[in-house]
Amino acid sequence: MGTGILTIDLDALAANWRDLARRSRGETGAVVKANGYGCGAAEVATRLAREGARRFFVATSEEGAALRGALGAGPEINVFSGHMAGDTALIRDHALTPMLNSPEQAARHRAALPGHPYGVQLDSGMNRLGMEAPDWAATRADLEAGPLTLVMSHLACADDPAHPMNAAQLRAFTAMSAGVTAPRSFAATGGILLGPDYHFDVTRPGVGIYGGQPFADARPVVRLSLPVVQVRDVAPGEIVGYSATFTADTPRRIATLSAGYADGLIRYMSNAAYLSAPHGKCRLAGRVSMDLLTVDVTDLPAVPDHLDILGPDQTVDQLAEVAGTIGYEILTSLGRRYQRLYLGA
Ligand SMILES: *Cc1c(COP(=O)(O)O)cnc(C)c1O
Repeated sequence: MGTGILTIDLDALAANWRDLARRSRGETGAVVKANGYGCGAAEVATRLAREGARRFFVATSEEGAALRGALGAGPEINVFSGHMAGDTALIRDHALTPMLNSPEQAARHRAALPGHPYGVQLDSGMNRLGMEAPDWAATRADLEAGPLTLVMSHLACADDPAHPMNAAQLRAFTAMSAGVTAPRSFAATGGILLGPDYHFDVTRPGVGIYGGQPFADARPVVRLSLPVVQVRDVAPGEIVGYSATFTADTPRRIATLSAGYADGLIRYMSNAAYLSAPHGKCRLAGRVSMDLLTVDVTDLPAVPDHLDILGPDQTVDQLAEVAGTIGYEILTSLGRRYQRLYLGA
């Protein structure tokens, strides 16, 4: 077997969702955009539907259409990018609920699919998606008269509880959505942890379900085991890998593993990321290349046939730290070449 093995623990994922649901004041949905943060949208959503999730969130109508195929009729599938030009057939045929982001999207949706349910996304200060207060004021009466299923907004700084944007956005969303009879949604993972003032009727956790920060109590969901292709001894003064960024100072044993930056193990991890074996840790030696990693295994008592780069010994956030990024990017970059194994499917 020449590729890495990505094990996704759906029991841990379900436990994370239930934990976030217990902390949420109202209903708890699930965000499964970007193929369920790299973990498999169909597998993740199918399991969470069994746990009781009734609303799922994706980024685009194409993702929504694929998800409907996996979930079947019933659960609400909300599309953050709203009703884009060309989306009408997908929205209709797969019973998707677009989050309308502008008066233009509202007009497009109501002209193309009169009577078809929709949500509205409001901008409470992030300035990324959603209607600004004057747009909402101008269209609100019309939009509330139709099948409006959700009114939502998104926090820019919820992973930092001390950030003044949190309270400012809460005030803005509360004011803009006052008197709305449709359910309201404001909190992603970070917002759930800010407390019940931020929850409204429906929460939308993503990263915490998949075991990532800022949900500090999350159980790890992914394990990534990479096969050893060969092992060699390197004499003092010899180099390892492209651009000779590692030079052996003493006799070293170097293992070459099958996975590289084409699999989402980004080049910035070179000479820095750790891997774990049953009896110890070892570190990357030299540059990450497209399909291969080189690892200094000198201090391991024996070289196993696989070394883990993600798992209980190194979380997505710890690997992100040495890679100069965030856990979200590590997860959504997980390669397509890995063999995917699901526990608890
Ligand atoms: C991605 C996203 C979420 C989920 O955020 P997490 O931080 O992963 O929990 C919720 N709402 C919106 C609008 C998003 O874009």
